[in-house]
Amino acid sequence: MTTAPVENSSRGHAKAFAPPSSNAADGRKILVGLSRPELEAEVLGMGEAKFRAKQLWQWIYNRGASSFEEMTSLGKPFRAKLEAGYVVGRPEVVEDLISTDGTRKWLLRFPDGNEVETVFIPEEGRGTLCVSSQVGCTLTCKFCHTGTQPLVRNLSPNEIVSQIILARDSMAEWPSSGLNRRVTNIVMMGMGEPLYNYENVRTALNIVMDGEGLSISRRRITLSTSGVVPEIRRCGVDLGVNLAVSLHATDDETRGKIMPINNKYPLKELLDACREYPGVSNSRRITFEYVMLKDVNDSMEDAKKLLQVLKGIPAKINLIPFNPWPGSFFECSSNNQIRRFSDFLFENGISAPVRTTRGEDILAACGQLKSESERKRKTKKPCAAE
Ligand code: SAH
Ligand code: SF4
Repeated sequence: MTTAPVENSSRGHAKAFAPPSSNAADGRKILVGLSRPELEAEVLGMGEAKFRAKQLWQWIYNRGASSFEEMTSLGKPFRAKLEAGYVVGRPEVVEDLISTDGTRKWLLRFPDGNEVETVFIPEEGRGTLCVSSQVGCTLTCKFCHTGTQPLVRNLSPNEIVSQIILARDSMAEWPSSGLNRRVTNIVMMGMGEPLYNYENVRTALNIVMDGEGLSISRRRITLSTSGVVPEIRRCGVDLGVNLAVSLHATDDETRGKIMPINNKYPLKELLDACREYPGVSNSRRITFEYVMLKDVNDSMEDAKKLLQVLKGIPAKINLIPFNPWPGSFFECSSNNQIRRFSDFLFENGISAPVRTTRGEDILAACGQLKSESERKRKTKKPCAAE
């Protein structure tokens, strides 16, 4: 139905399969992931008043209720109706790993057997949740482990929102509890290309940003794309979240070799879309991600070209040391070269910090995410927190 294998070699512009319907294994409908209008329609369909949908929404997204029993402000007959036809919805967690540096990675399995990973990265004063948008990825960037996963399907809004709910559950930090929240920021930088699953990502992020629920502001959400040009503008208009672009090279030839999407949307088109990204300004810059690959894109000539191509775009650069994975073809640039590259950009007025690799011991670093069913486990540690 949803997950026939897709051949790796023919996947350049393959379409990912749609997610299965949002029903639990017993056929009851899952509420997490329904938009507000969809939830209202369900409630009206049960013969209940519209304001009940608002109460339900708050129980699910503000108080973190995972069962109808907990929803004490709803009348018993309504709760019984809900129980009969619906579940709130929680994903199955098959692995929960904590790195020596505090990074935490969950492996989630959905009822059709597909799996994705979600990573929490604690930092001084903030905590970032790295959320997946697809099982695998239809693109095949040469340096990325996710791109080698043979099965690809889109995640549903339920499966995307569930990753944030899971993090809140795991850290007992629902807004109504009044505690300082550890998950302060969301980055759509996990498995998959979010702009190839745009509709579902949009529905999910609108739920995540809703002020009466999870309430994470668009200024604290960053969507990372490999450069799906037609959707970049829509994303800015509809969602207004921060944009990160995986640039990784400064000319079409090099970029086309390591990122096949460049052959569809070349650099000029991509950079024009960035220039026109709604809301972009000096105080709201676009982040350009640049993975440091030895002898591929890391010369000082490349650094100079990077300055040139980003001219006129309010930009900051994130230099990512290449994270190797079993069988990967590239080498990471030397620390010295990364430092020189970064210093040169800073000296020329553009912020270019080197991103520290986090969660290496649990394979949670950028570009390493790939479901366990597809890869032999490296190190595995039982979760120390629960
Ligand atoms: N598909 C989106 C978001 C997910 S990838 C995108 O490509 O932007 C998140 C980031 O990790 C991207 O910048 C990606 O290029 C980078 N990345 C992928 N593989 C990597 C690796 N092995 N080492 C370091 N960064 C990597
Ligand atoms: Fe897909 Fe992003 Fe990996 Fe490229 S870098 S294969 S777009 S997840």
